Amino acid sequence: MANLQMKEAALVYLDRSGGLQKFMDDCKSYNDSKQSYAVYRFSVLVNPSDVVELDAELGNHILHHPLKAAQVFQSVCFVAVKTLSLIGQLQTETQISIVLKLTHLPALPSYSLDLCEFPLSYTSRRFYTMQGIVIAMTTVTKYTQGARFLCSDEVCPLSKGFQYIRVHVPGATESATVRNDFLCRLCASSLQEDRKFRVLGDKQIVEIITTKALHAFQGDCKKQPFRYQSLSIFLRVSLRCSMLVFRCERGIKGEKGLSQNAVLIQCASLASELQELPASPLDHLALRLQNFCHFYFLSVPSGISDNFRCLLSLTSASCWKFTAVLANVFASQIIPPGTYNLLKLCLLMSLVQTSNGNRDPQDCLDILIITSDTLLVDRLLNYSMNLVSRGIRHPVSTEVFPTVSRNKYGTGAVSIQAGSALLAKGGVCFIGDLTSHKKDKLEQLQSVLESRSITVFIPGKKFGDDIDQQMTFPVQCSFWSFVDMDSSSRRTVQKTSALIGQMDCSLIPANLVEAFGLLINCNESSPCHPLLPTVQHTLKKAMEPEGLLYLASQEFTTEDFQKLLAFAQNLNIEFSLEAERMIHGYYLASRRIRADSIHGSKLSASALKYLVSLSEAHARLNLRNKVLKEDVLIAALLFEMSLTLKYGASAFCVAPNALFPFELYNEEYLEQRDLYLTQCQQQLQQFIATCGPGTALFSTDE
Ligand SMILES: [Zn+2]
Repeated sequence: MANLQMKEAALVYLDRSGGLQKFMDDCKSYNDSKQSYAVYRFSVLVNPSDVVELDAELGNHILHHPLKAAQVFQSVCFVAVKTLSLIGQLQTETQISIVLKLTHLPALPSYSLDLCEFPLSYTSRRFYTMQGIVIAMTTVTKYTQGARFLCSDEVCPLSKGFQYIRVHVPGATESATVRNDFLCRLCASSLQEDRKFRVLGDKQIVEIITTKALHAFQGDCKKQPFRYQSLSIFLRVSLRCSMLVFRCERGIKGEKGLSQNAVLIQCASLASELQELPASPLDHLALRLQNFCHFYFLSVPSGISDNFRCLLSLTSASCWKFTAVLANVFASQIIPPGTYNLLKLCLLMSLVQTSNGNRDPQDCLDILIITSDTLLVDRLLNYSMNLVSRGIRHPVSTEVFPTVSRNKYGTGAVSIQAGSALLAKGGVCFIGDLTSHKKDKLEQLQSVLESRSITVFIPGKKFGDDIDQQMTFPVQCSFWSFVDMDSSSRRTVQKTSALIGQMDCSLIPANLVEAFGLLINCNESSPCHPLLPTVQHTLKKAMEPEGLLYLASQEFTTEDFQKLLAFAQNLNIEFSLEAERMIHGYYLASRRIRADSIHGSKLSASALKYLVSLSEAHARLNLRNKVLKEDVLIAALLFEMSLTLKYGASAFCVAPNALFPFELYNEEYLEQRDLYLTQCQQQLQQFIATCGPGTALFSTDE
């Protein structure tokens, strides 16, 4: 009786939710195809809250005994097929396979699975939600969803018809579906599969780790050693659904695992969303891969601290003072205020250009630092990287870019491990000393910096496949790296620079240096490096590691900076017309002046993107949503300083200390700096007027 009542409720629910209409449409396409299958699959979208309200028992079944609930829907659907003659070919109820797709699960702790809490519940065969970071995924392979078996004895009545249907159920191994030792229950002859009725589905295995595991990549050596184990998830849902797993980053686990740490997940998805996806499997794959490694971000409070608010209003008359003070006091936990201000400004600008949303990957600001002070620079970068949601310090023992290997599940699929760069999606990937990477890896890095994507080749021969495959992943992070100029072995090969201001970068391939948007010189001899405060800082830190050395560290805490950056990252930026003109003017003038008749211009087309990104970053850091020509000036100065290090000085002569010409101690100095920068602005305009061709007009061909 209870079962009958549930079936009635299921029918009422299907009717009310529009599920019945969808089911009939699906039946129609099966019927129209005239093809006969062992199994006819239907997905039913279920909103558990609605069902619970309609019939508590059915609701309870869906949430806690989904396989039984699917059976209820199965028999309702079979009755519908028969009474309405929906599919002519369909003969038995077992040929109907129902996949329940839940819109959501109750927001209660018992419905979510914390990957850190062991042991996981392997015995309950129901749905859970879980969250994590995808660190590896396999290619998509086929598995048997359903098969038809026939009795091998021709006189047996079961040698015909659809009496022996095997359907893959969630959590089962594939050998449970198709085997050769099944016997006829009537005559005990062996059963044989009728292969032309076999129904294949797509399968993919992804490895996920808990978001807490990100600490492992943040390079904090003070933390205790730890170990995170990845969890293998078998996606057996259709391509369209597993796509959504990545898109919404939400999987609902159902049923018992395949092996001890493998669970099968089913996806709660909205049919309307699915229909927007392109049709070909390759497109699905491409789309899914784009979402590789996306993960949940905890909501970051976007409020700005009172001290920053106050500072902003005090400096509101100037476009340069606020960011100057920010750079000055930033990371006072690591280095004394006033040290390496130029580098700190660039780091802040790079940080605000990261985004966990879907911003253009071209917005990234990569930084290469030439330094003899690797210890402090390394510490500073490590500290800065951790201020955004995803800062990954590349561990030396692993790969920066995705690698391909045979997967360990014996499914013939190829496993792709993410690598640091993809894990850093929407954040910063700090790859340490550039010269510690091998030549071929540097070539790979250069191509990634230029194209913002990485293509992984999967040679068919090597992995037992007929065809070669390749997959392309977008690389959406900013790369930070440094080169140690102080290593004694390198000193010997250094040559004297031929051009004023040019750095000897012969250690690194010139094209790679070019690919980094910003090259920064950060040495004791460079500006902004008062030696004495650094020594004092180091000594004080050694005596009192946790002590706050400066007032600035109290007034502007690490957390304050985190909030400020989060706020700035989310600003929608637009360009003022004069800012746009100035960027183009400087770009064209610079291209022209750094060109020779043989090699053409030294400036690549990406220079324009960097200038745009730098200008945008400075406006963002000012918490403004409009880029002004003052922001473009900072961008142009930074870029020109970088060009000077690469190729020597040009007609737009920029001093190495142009951004911080004086030490910043009080308001008077800030005022002087503003005056100095105003002069620079005039010089820039002069430079554009004399060297840029037709700069008043927007030149589209360049
Ligand atoms: Zn038989």
